[in-house]
Amino acid sequence: MKYVIISNRLPVTVKRTDAGVTFTRSGGGLATGLDSLETDAPKHWIGWCGVQVDDPAERADIDRRLGAQLLHPVYLNEQQIADFYEGYSNSTIWPLCHYFYSNIVFDDAFRRAYWEVNELFANEAVKVVEPGDLVWVQDYQLMLLPGLIRERIPDVGIGYSHHIPFPSYELFRCLPERADILRGLLGADLVGFHTHDYMRHFISAVYRVLNLECRVDEVQLEDRISETEAFPMGINYDLYHNAITTPEVAAHADAMRGIAGDSKIILSVDRLDYSKGILTRLESYAAFLESHPEYHGKVTLIMVVVPSRDNVPMYRDLKTAIDNRIGALNGKYATIGWTPVHYFYRSFSFDELTAMYHLADVALVTPLRDGMNLVAKEYLAAKRDAPGVLILSEMAGAADELRQAIIVNPTNIKQIGDAIFSALTMPDAEKLAALRDMQSLLARRDVTAWAGEFMRELTKAKARNDELRRKVLGQSGIAEIRDRYRAARRRLLVFDYDGTLAPLVSDPAKASPTVDLLASLDRLAADPDNTVVISSGRDKRSIGDWFPNPAIRLSAEHGAFSGRTANGTAITVRWCGATTLWKLSRTSPTTRRDRTSKTNRPPWSGITGTSRTGWPNSASPSS
Ligand code: UDP
Repeated sequence: MKYVIISNRLPVTVKRTDAGVTFTRSGGGLATGLDSLETDAPKHWIGWCGVQVDDPAERADIDRRLGAQLLHPVYLNEQQIADFYEGYSNSTIWPLCHYFYSNIVFDDAFRRAYWEVNELFANEAVKVVEPGDLVWVQDYQLMLLPGLIRERIPDVGIGYSHHIPFPSYELFRCLPERADILRGLLGADLVGFHTHDYMRHFISAVYRVLNLECRVDEVQLEDRISETEAFPMGINYDLYHNAITTPEVAAHADAMRGIAGDSKIILSVDRLDYSKGILTRLESYAAFLESHPEYHGKVTLIMVVVPSRDNVPMYRDLKTAIDNRIGALNGKYATIGWTPVHYFYRSFSFDELTAMYHLADVALVTPLRDGMNLVAKEYLAAKRDAPGVLILSEMAGAADELRQAIIVNPTNIKQIGDAIFSALTMPDAEKLAALRDMQSLLARRDVTAWAGEFMRELTKAKARNDELRRKVLGQSGIAEIRDRYRAARRRLLVFDYDGTLAPLVSDPAKASPTVDLLASLDRLAADPDNTVVISSGRDKRSIGDWFPNPAIRLSAEHGAFSGRTANGTAITVRWCGATTLWKLSRTSPTTRRDRTSKTNRPPWSGITGTSRTGWPNSASPSS
């Protein structure tokens, strides 16, 4: 058995040099979580290698080099990257899941590319995955993949983790391919979300779109169950908590402190994205400066915006709007010695970032929607023993866990402005008490615990489905039934109706028996060594009308009515008030001799009932 992780990108940093492509293994949160899993099972990883490679010889070389580290690259061409990644993933699914309906692009070429690339991933998976393995698929770029793998390798444990919000049904229903996407996800034995709300939205979408039987945390499929659960993703807590103790990070922190002077530092760190609420955040800071002139010259907002997709017009426009707003804000409030906003449109190294986290008096994390938000968690961990306050949007998944933060509505400019003031004036003891509570939670639920818990639950979900599959009749079971049937001198054949003799359908009235079914049952009932009973929860009239052959015995309404009249209508033989267990009366030479006149016997003979309470039922039929 092995673990196979499948994500859009392999955990490698790629460089194309004159000498060819080089790869360095990178340690993101997921990679850290998986590396720390305590298991002897080998851990394989499938993903896009991050670079376009057309030359077959170069591909073979990369396959060999990455394969030695159990990494299996998927190759995408330029068009696929544009239409699958930038297109369907980031221009359709991303805005849909973040509630930006007007930003959704519905484009058939995008949709086709998404299907095509998910197939490519499935093809690579088939080369690596074997029955009995545990496969863990990551995120919204690969939502069809669990279903595609399940079709190709049924006997495999599949988990899926969704790292962005799952929207409410009202929004999800807008997606033309909603049913296919849900079916793809349900290929997994376990579907994980960061919060219970996302999980609830998913179950509601499955119930309404696919009309499947759902419970709070599971979906009943034909031969197995797909479970859902909330697994809030953690961070590598120790790494961030201990960062300031390293000389490199401490040196960065000293340099930054020198630049900021005595000003209080408010920190804002995001990728460039409309879901992050960067413009509203700037408005809130402006509102704070407007209503608290006493803080002019005493507070600085350090705003880090990590470049992302700024070749896309919507993102380019957002960047321009941010540039302009910061320009206007600094233009209005700055003095010779004070800049209200220090703006960086670039990414920082881990050492620089953790130094900023450690120094910041306040972290301002106010996304309009965010699956989790790791910056909030990293900030708290990196503060170590220094007081700091987290202002956190209620729309971030992290808000479910970090209840001691100052929780704000990210569109309420005044509320965020007031929260900045509260954070700056909060006594240190109060800050530290909240910080320690949240730190202890983050230390317990770090990324190692997250990955470990997911894998444990996936193992259990797979075992449960293996058990269910064993109950589905296979070829050997059918052969055994045939052998026993032939060997038996007398046979009692009790058939359930709905779901056994007839498929389950949404309108029960439409599940009438087919001509073939009636013919098969008649053939069985015609054998004098057989007693054929249909036991159903259905009403006695339907059952009686559907099965007019008097040789077929009937038990309707969960056993409350049984037997039949001469004209075939089911009749009451007794009322037991509970589910009834039936057994064939012991075969004796007398009854064997009598069987020739079976059709003339009263319909209830040959069968006796025992109520659930164990009372022998000797009552004669009432009518
Ligand atoms: N980050 C980084 N360099 C930077 C700024 C941020 O590596 O200059 C990282 C940060 O440490 C965090 C991630 O980017 O782990 C952002 O994750 P988050 O969940 O907050 O937002 P996402 O970008 O995934 O929506």
